[in-house]
Amino acid sequence: MGAVLATDVGRKDGGPDITVERGQRAVFCGLTSIVWLHRKIQDAFFLVVGSRTCAHLIQSAAGVMIFSEPRFATAVLDDRDLAGMADCSEEVERMIAKVLQRRPNLKTLFLVSSCPSEVIKIDLENIAKRYRERSQGSLRVISYSGSGIETTFTQGEDSCLQNLVPEMPVHTVEKNQLLVVGSLPDIVEDQFARLFGELGIEELNFFPGRQSETLPSIGPGTRILLAQPYLGETARALIARGATLLAAPFPLGAEGSLAWFRAAAESFNVPEDVFKSTMRAPFERAQRSLEGCKETLENRRIAFLPDSQLEIPLARFLSRECGMVPTEVSTPFYDALTMAQEAPLLPEGVEWFEGQDLDTALDRVRASRPDLTVCGMGIANPLEAEGLRTKWSIELMFSPIQGFDQAGDLAELFARPLRRQARLEVGSWS
Ligand code: SF4
Repeated sequence: MGAVLATDVGRKDGGPDITVERGQRAVFCGLTSIVWLHRKIQDAFFLVVGSRTCAHLIQSAAGVMIFSEPRFATAVLDDRDLAGMADCSEEVERMIAKVLQRRPNLKTLFLVSSCPSEVIKIDLENIAKRYRERSQGSLRVISYSGSGIETTFTQGEDSCLQNLVPEMPVHTVEKNQLLVVGSLPDIVEDQFARLFGELGIEELNFFPGRQSETLPSIGPGTRILLAQPYLGETARALIARGATLLAAPFPLGAEGSLAWFRAAAESFNVPEDVFKSTMRAPFERAQRSLEGCKETLENRRIAFLPDSQLEIPLARFLSRECGMVPTEVSTPFYDALTMAQEAPLLPEGVEWFEGQDLDTALDRVRASRPDLTVCGMGIANPLEAEGLRTKWSIELMFSPIQGFDQAGDLAELFARPLRRQARLEVGSWS
């Protein structure tokens, strides 16, 4: 821990000049994404095979659900398992049987590996295969990795969806369809579906959807629009199945949302007058909703430490639409496939970093003292104690932030800590 291996400075796959850091990291692991995935996919269960730490992480991140049966659990590995004295496969199968006995109507069971189960090499893929065969198709059992080894927390969703792609049926007939990829709060999904409907794009699916029993079919003619920026591997898996990735920035802010819808409209040959008449009202509403925050955000300096992989599109939104000045934009991984439309939209003068070396990142923030630092929860408190204002990036994963109608709320998330600081400063004078 703590080895500083910075690094390599260079242009990344035709993108910006990025300094790559490979040192100590401070991010949550992929298990965290179960919190939003289990809410989204309502007929699925997530069984983590991990340690008490893993169980604790999910339990505290998801909150204790006292009024409903949670659809996630941890099969806790104990000392005998870790010492190789027990047959872990048998134990996991026993746990699965227990889950299914209590919830016979489940349609999909995700077996999620963790750092300890990967280190002792429990073969969840084979267990999943055996269970599927036994259920004769009535239950889909998928394994994927949620471990924190060399990953950040949003990669849990990428890994989950990537492993679902082979389950998607092939088109039986050639059909043009739009596939929106990335889990979205239901309210946002409904808004997007309505707008795509008004554009005349009828063949529309969301992946993941609210139910996992029927997955959308895929093949040539499927155009993918990514709703989340951290789904590079899922996008590659879909492309390998014949789909085409539409080039677009992400639907954050008025401008980002407009460009995102435009990419779909152009691909589906939506007439320009239909596009304009559909988009005008929501776009103008989104622009108006930003007005209230602009005064607070304009010309304030913001630094992004690597955490959620939302950093680049957020920096684009805050600089172009709210007048903020990004000083540093760090991201856990820079993926040229997903960032090609975003990176060129950032202003000159931004320092780019990929990966993390915690000590040097903190030194940079202490030296530049931005007005706001977007970072992980573990780093926020020490920075606050030094008089620096912070925003937890994980909060953005649990708030509806995509689309026109959420643009004002998204800006507000960044304005709030700055306003709070202003109030404290006034208070200290009186
Ligand atoms: S998967 Fe790894 S990083 Fe995540 S809680 Fe378990 S042990 Fe910790």
